Amino acid sequence: MTLARRISLGCIADDYTGASDLANTLTRCGLRTVQTIGVPAGDLELPELDAVVVSLKSRSIEAGLAVSRSRAAEKWLRGHGAGHVLFKICSTFDSTDAGNIGPVMDALRADSGDTIVLVTPAFPATGRTVYQGNLFVGSVPLNESPLKDHPLNPMHDSNLVRVLARQSQTHVGLVGLADIARGPDAVRARLADLSGKGFGAAIADAVFDRDLETIGAVALEHRLSVGASGIGLGLARALLASGKVESSATKPPSNAIVGGPAACLAGSCSQATLRQIDSAEQVMPVLHLDPEQIMAGKGEARRALAWAKGRLGDGPVLIASSSTPDQVAALQSRHGRDEVGHAIEQAMADVAEGLVASGVRRLVIAGGETSGAVVDRLGIPGFLVGAEIAAGVPVLRAVGAANGAMLLALKSGNFGGTEFFSDALELMR
Ligand code: ADP
Repeated sequence: MTLARRISLGCIADDYTGASDLANTLTRCGLRTVQTIGVPAGDLELPELDAVVVSLKSRSIEAGLAVSRSRAAEKWLRGHGAGHVLFKICSTFDSTDAGNIGPVMDALRADSGDTIVLVTPAFPATGRTVYQGNLFVGSVPLNESPLKDHPLNPMHDSNLVRVLARQSQTHVGLVGLADIARGPDAVRARLADLSGKGFGAAIADAVFDRDLETIGAVALEHRLSVGASGIGLGLARALLASGKVESSATKPPSNAIVGGPAACLAGSCSQATLRQIDSAEQVMPVLHLDPEQIMAGKGEARRALAWAKGRLGDGPVLIASSSTPDQVAALQSRHGRDEVGHAIEQAMADVAEGLVASGVRRLVIAGGETSGAVVDRLGIPGFLVGAEIAAGVPVLRAVGAANGAMLLALKSGNFGGTEFFSDALELMR
């Protein structure tokens, strides 16, 4: 792997869209950031960078596997200069008593040699705050938020000191808001006190961005931290304030024109995406796939490709599998929920692969799982994060892709305004 110089901040994210969210936050703070899909292969060429976010899918897998994958990512990041590594988790602390936050934190802490690690999922900009160790989602405690009904990891306890202690081998303490508000020296003193008593981790309260700046400044003196994009913001600001990194405002990322045909794919069935498809009908040809035909075999993806190939020369096209909730429920009851989801994701990946083979170099994708399936299929090893299309959705410039220069936008379902598809294409030249 070639890096023009060593990175300052290494991050390991436990899912793809969380990784994009963090990479976007770091970029907006002024760090030149690449998001990689998995641990980069030896020959991946990367531009000059400040931060790398390695995206894993380790949030809900078996804890031992999450630990080994996270350790491999940490080893790669340290090997490329990262003095500090952030283990990026969900801002709603998605996990179970079996993990994976605690086991991964324990392993990375042992590898880093730190005696104590700061942990906070707070991200005030998105309504995630922590007070007295309790996580609030908007105005309600975590255990009263919709996360109490999450299908994989229902969160029934908002006290993160308790939640993390159940998953970790170490004692978990608290750095309360009173210490955070008094500034870095008070936080250092509290951590030294906890560490002296044998605590290996501390949940840090944070209610405002300035709290994250205090936490970031102290965390940067350690080798490991755990948290969501909020602590990423704190670390980025601390790196810039320390002078270790120069803001990318003075060295803008490449905006070289990629050109070539452009296409949009929608696999999300969210209300926002359905509205965005309706709006796109006014400005580009739209093909609605027949989900029942997708369940029947590969023919529907081939039909879509033939349809697109005849039109790509005239401008962007949109291919959508999206249906209304009633139609989705009916299809799922006939074929099973997982089977339908998987088959449609793979059909979208087939279409994307065919489009790229036909010369498409600018691709907008709506749907988190859909994006994951497409990116995996295209074998794109990483992305340089660029301009923001809508809150949390940046333009991504592929790095090290076999097909050369490519621009992508990956949107999770509910993101973006009504004109999202044309807004994205406007910025993806
Ligand atoms: P979001 O970001 O909105 O959650 P995802 O892509 O993550 O979007 O999830 C949408 C899921 O719905 C995917 O598994 C996709 O394959 C599936 N899907 C897409 N179209 C349909 C449809 N017409 N009927 C049923 N499921 C669908």
